[in-house]
Amino acid sequence: MDKFDVIIVGTGVAGLFTALSVSPDFKVLMISKDKIENSDSYLAQGGICTLKEPADFDSFLEDTLRAGRYENNQDSVKVMIENSPMIMDRLVEYGVRFDINKDGTYEYTREGAHSTYRILHHKDVTGKEITNKLLNNVRERENITLKEYTKMLDFIIEDNVCHGVVIKEKDAVRAVYAKQVVLATGGIGGLFTHSTNFRHITGDSFALALRHGVQLQNINYIQIHPTTLYEEAKNRKFLISESVRGEGGILLNKKGERFVDELLPRDVVTEAIRKQMDEDGRPFVMLSIKHMPKEEIIRRFPNIYRHCLEVGYDLSKEDIPVTPAQHYLMGGILADTYGRTSVKHLFAVGETACNGVHGANRLASNSLLESLVFSERAGWIISEETENIEYGEPHVSLEEYKDIDAWDEKNRQIIMEEIKRRDGEFYDKWCDK
Ligand SMILES: Cc1cc2nc3c(=O)[nH]c(=O)nc-3n(C[C@H](O)[C@H](O)[C@H](O)COP(=O)(O)OP(=O)(O)OC[C@H]3O[C@@H](n4cnc5c(N)ncnc54)[C@H](O)[C@@H]3O)c2cc1C
Repeated sequence: MDKFDVIIVGTGVAGLFTALSVSPDFKVLMISKDKIENSDSYLAQGGICTLKEPADFDSFLEDTLRAGRYENNQDSVKVMIENSPMIMDRLVEYGVRFDINKDGTYEYTREGAHSTYRILHHKDVTGKEITNKLLNNVRERENITLKEYTKMLDFIIEDNVCHGVVIKEKDAVRAVYAKQVVLATGGIGGLFTHSTNFRHITGDSFALALRHGVQLQNINYIQIHPTTLYEEAKNRKFLISESVRGEGGILLNKKGERFVDELLPRDVVTEAIRKQMDEDGRPFVMLSIKHMPKEEIIRRFPNIYRHCLEVGYDLSKEDIPVTPAQHYLMGGILADTYGRTSVKHLFAVGETACNGVHGANRLASNSLLESLVFSERAGWIISEETENIEYGEPHVSLEEYKDIDAWDEKNRQIIMEEIKRRDGEFYDKWCDK
């Protein structure tokens, strides 16, 4: 029988950082539905927020609350901001390199709705840099087993206590028992036709939570990113990071005129773009950064520059068409500031969790930080508690998972119905397409 002290589902930054924060005395299994590297964490471009000096605390707090329409859990926000310098130190210890100025100080950037420059970045591939370095460290830990192309199909929950998960590895379905289970499965972008997320990130944890009565919060608080590269193909949408606007990029209508303050919160800019697209009668508006010197564009946005060139646009010479797309889930499985959910021994971290940091709308570059701060705290609690937990091994009938396509389709319907039930207007605008 398969048994682990801890199972972590998901190998994005939240899963990896939890694994690194759990005591090395525990036997940990990490699984990922797809290739290990295929997580949204790898795609993060803009950067990661931090408290660069104590004097910025109030303004960082206010920017986060304002973006979240003051629906945030203030205690969670404070925990996140207070812990951010320590998290940056940990990342640097793990080998993460942030861009620095010529004088050796960190180069901070800025994105929409931030009142100052407080975002650390590694060129425009910050997520890749952080995730790769965390993964290298995880691979060195002998107590951690990593399995890719291994999918969590179900939770094993009895009497409100979690005892493990049902997994599918190649064609075999089986129960794997654990003293503690951590859900780090990211958001729900794969359920949307237009999303910046990987297609396999389909919110499985939320459907299972709804099936088992695990408490969710604000599952209809879904962020639409204002600027993804407009392409006719229905593949994953390529993000044009907010920092392009932060560094002076402007949005233009059909007549070549500016129509919005580009640095307003994401939901406001998205709505302005939607209206403008209707007025212009086309499915995109234009984004221009060509006033920036070419060398500076290439230095600052090498990934975006390269991708645009590949699909036929030279950012240094021409404007590019952009359109809004699903990007991030602010809601999720209700969790406290240690990732504990309404079910015993079941934790939720990263984009899967809703600890109230983001309120109704996420401030740019707060999600990597939020994922790291709260997954580390989940790791601490797990390290303290796990030794005294007994395994529970309730019988699991595998009959239910015979038709996995039907199981997955049902999961999709469960989530979509819940979003529709909670916000019909949002559903009609963005989900039913
Ligand atoms: C294009 C893009 C750009 C972004 N830029 C930024 C940025 O600049 N700054 C910022 O702070 N945030 C940014 N974000 C958001 C941020 O990257 C994510 O919110 C964050 O990385 C989520 O991390 P995570 O570990 O919670 O989930 P993810 O990184 O999404 O990882 C989810 C993991 O769960 C696994 N999984 C899912 N379902 C199952 C299952 N059923 N069984 C097994 N495994 C499963 C997946 O395979 C994956 O390994 C960006 C997001 C995108 C998409």
